[in-house]
Amino acid sequence: MKIRDILAEGRPSVSFEVFPPRKDLPFAPVKEVVERLSRQRPSFMSVTYGAAGGAQANTAAIASFVEKCGVPALAHLTCISATEEGIAAEAAALAKAGVENILCLRGDVPSGATESPLGRFRHAVDLVRALKPHGFCLGGACYPECHPECEHMEDDITHLREKVDAGLDFVTTQMFFDNNIFYRYLSKLRDRGVTVPVIAGIMPVTNGRQINRICRLSGTYLPSRFKAIVDRYGDMPSAMLDAGVAYATEQIIDLFANGVNAVHVYTMNKPEVAERIMFNLRGLVGDDDR
Ligand code: FAD
Repeated sequence: MKIRDILAEGRPSVSFEVFPPRKDLPFAPVKEVVERLSRQRPSFMSVTYGAAGGAQANTAAIASFVEKCGVPALAHLTCISATEEGIAAEAAALAKAGVENILCLRGDVPSGATESPLGRFRHAVDLVRALKPHGFCLGGACYPECHPECEHMEDDITHLREKVDAGLDFVTTQMFFDNNIFYRYLSKLRDRGVTVPVIAGIMPVTNGRQINRICRLSGTYLPSRFKAIVDRYGDMPSAMLDAGVAYATEQIIDLFANGVNAVHVYTMNKPEVAERIMFNLRGLVGDDDR
């Protein structure tokens, strides 16, 4: 099923993210994660491409397994350093695997790269243009706190608008921990004529140590309320799990209450986190039998 059709239903939608196994590691543990996550009946499940150490070559296989579990799959695909033939081969593999949705990404610039090795696909918009004729439903990334390489938010939105005009059906945000930042961003996007659905990316933080580093790199603002949780419980895994799930749940309830229906949870292959969040949301997503 195409994600644009799911979003058009206008109901509260919660989706999850998984990453495929690293090169040469077995598929079975990730498949178990996907099976457990699918029991939570997410609207769709996305499968990363080369992020968090997952092997790019395994994305299509895991996305195909997501579909077999009865959940629509969103396969991530990055284009930096890719060739025209490579992208055509990826598109053919995904279509063969029954995947109808692709998240079009540039990927991070390899450290030390100069402009020339980036080749044909310099920005995600080039990938959108290449994939559009293939009939997939296409998504892209967006950044409520501005992409770290872009100096001005207004320019970043101009680039996003270009990507959307090239054929995106929806966009998913980078994680954020302050919903007001998201609401201000959404309003700016609408003012600038970006009208596609914007899926809010929510990261339940269960590892206090990692999050300070990730936020420094991505420029994500940590509200003091959140910082206090990490400072106090960052070294206490089970307390951090409770607090991280509670914080993410509160963010999602606030988003739903303010009319934002689509939320993507960065579940990071942790089904227990997804299960706890979905239990907390059972009344809000019309699933009281959980
Ligand atoms: P782009 O849209 O190309 O933007 C990158 C930068 O270039 C921005 O600063 C933008 O303002 C600028 N720009 C865009 N177009 C132009 C133009 N025409 N002229 C000048 N500047 C321009 N990475 C992975 O490796 N694998 C994943 O699976 C993955 N999944 C992700 C999922 C989400 C929801 C998000 C938010 C990010 C994900 N990433 C992933 C990270 C992503 O690859 C990086 O953030 C990357 O640095 C930018 O990718 P992009 O698609 O946003 O790039």
